[in-house]
Amino acid sequence: MTKLLTQEEIYNSLKTKYSQYSPDFELQIKAGQMAKLNRLVKEKNAVILKHNYMSWDLQCDEVLGIRGDSLELSRKATETDADTILFLGVKFMAETAKVLNPKKTVLIPSLKAGCSLAASITGADVRKLKQIFPGIPVVAYVNTDADTKSEVDVCCASGNAAKVVRWAMKEWKTNKVIFLPDKFLAQNVANEMNADIYFPNMTVDPKEVQKDFALRVNNSVPNTPIFIGWEGKCEVHEKFTPHDVDNLRHDFPGVYIMAHPECPPEVVKKVDFAGSTGEMIKKVTSPDIQDKQVAFFTECAMVEILAAQHTNVLQVCSIQKRCPHMAQNNLETVIEALEKMQFEITVPEDLRKSAELPIRRMIAIK
Ligand code: SF4
Repeated sequence: MTKLLTQEEIYNSLKTKYSQYSPDFELQIKAGQMAKLNRLVKEKNAVILKHNYMSWDLQCDEVLGIRGDSLELSRKATETDADTILFLGVKFMAETAKVLNPKKTVLIPSLKAGCSLAASITGADVRKLKQIFPGIPVVAYVNTDADTKSEVDVCCASGNAAKVVRWAMKEWKTNKVIFLPDKFLAQNVANEMNADIYFPNMTVDPKEVQKDFALRVNNSVPNTPIFIGWEGKCEVHEKFTPHDVDNLRHDFPGVYIMAHPECPPEVVKKVDFAGSTGEMIKKVTSPDIQDKQVAFFTECAMVEILAAQHTNVLQVCSIQKRCPHMAQNNLETVIEALEKMQFEITVPEDLRKSAELPIRRMIAIK
């Protein structure tokens, strides 16, 4: 059994690494909270899964747990032997963990931690799409509720989206795919695959949509992959603009810019690298950019901790780029979640069973 750090050891460690983020008295308070949280983790035989968008005082190594992006954490959720999973992220992530671990207790610190992408679509919307476009495989970004996942063929994360689409097209022997709900991720993946993309107007008669789509297919170059998209957006990443890229390059000549593919395609085209949070974090240490200043177009909490760890990372993110849902997680709500064993995530068994296959397919596609 790993020996837990004492409050004093945690404080000394925080003081060395994070004194630019909090005054000394606050570091002392946080050290006490972290020591308490770590004790609770052991007592309850729990594991904390921390999404890369958590604030530095949850992401730091002084708090027990496993960090990662959605895909990495979904994989970790299948490997744990803890009795309780405390998911520091948003609701769809905790639901994914529950779908994969029906016998375990899965907790989330706040039930208000939603997601604008997950809220943009329902299982009923997917059923309607499948009626309009029969026989076309449905790929859903993992940022969807279990109700939506239960209707799709395979899930994907930003880090394996193109691979999943290629897999689905091969399995279904088609050059078409329904990709939902993120409009920008769909456009970015379609661009990567030199594919055409079509956004159906769901407010008109489905027969009109079918006619319109058939026309589009007829007019496209034979064998070009065709995506059918949905108009969901991440309320954080949609705020980045191509103008932001130009301004940054002007102010920091030679800067290396990375962006999450939930950003608009006009932004992604202008940056040096686009990838999932896990891919961007790996990239920071790659030898080709170690002498450069590095900036990120993604949720700003991730930038904060990277700036503490790497001197070449620019903290150019603003508070408007903080996800209000991710921000529901803080040391107080996390401690309370384990103390009171709240808030428990449940998924009706029929939905869980139907949502499991698309998630497991996503995890299996490397
Ligand atoms: S950052 Fe965007 S995609 Fe991620 S949880 Fe927040 S709203 Fe959803």
